[in-house]
Amino acid sequence: MRATVLSCIAALALSLSAHAAEPLAAVERAIVPVASWGGTPADASKAKRHTISQITLHHQGEPFKPGTDPQAYLRRLQTWSRTTKGWLDIPYHYVIDLDGRVYEARNIDFAGDTNTEYDPTGHALIEVVGNFEEVEPNQQQLDAVVDLMALLARKYKVSLDDIKSHRDHSDKTVCPGANLYRYVKEDYFRHKVALRLAGEQAANR
Ligand SMILES: [Zn+2]
Repeated sequence: MRATVLSCIAALALSLSAHAAEPLAAVERAIVPVASWGGTPADASKAKRHTISQITLHHQGEPFKPGTDPQAYLRRLQTWSRTTKGWLDIPYHYVIDLDGRVYEARNIDFAGDTNTEYDPTGHALIEVVGNFEEVEPNQQQLDAVVDLMALLARKYKVSLDDIKSHRDHSDKTVCPGANLYRYVKEDYFRHKVALRLAGEQAANR
């Protein structure tokens, strides 16, 4: 991992000229808040508060048909999470749609939920819509995952080694799906996040 990071930084000069990324502050401002998609805040008195130390990637696990309204999907997901599952809220903190737009879901200060056996306390949970056992993630989704992971890694001082996916924590799931997991396994996200963070530092110098 250390070697990967060093080689990332060495590659930085090239990548900075090739990829003009938005500042992370702009990424954060573009996140669609819960009230904007018609969601309601969770009951804070029932929430388990936690401190973020890891970032964990998930997929929806069901096909997300083009043309589906992501805001309506989020409202349905919130209702299902609360009424059918009896959870505090949507299990994830952020949801990324087909266009790479990022939506706020569960308050990041509150620990998430899961159908499997790992304990998501301390994890920032990101869900990408779609079933990546069946389809490939598109580039906007991949870019959005990198941007969001970089934002969270910087904000909560999460080590690159702690950027993982659901199946890295549980044997009972294929989440985030083979076609998205490939990017986790091959360190695509860690590499891109390292570049993003180094680029941000260089820009602020
Ligand atoms: Zn998952």
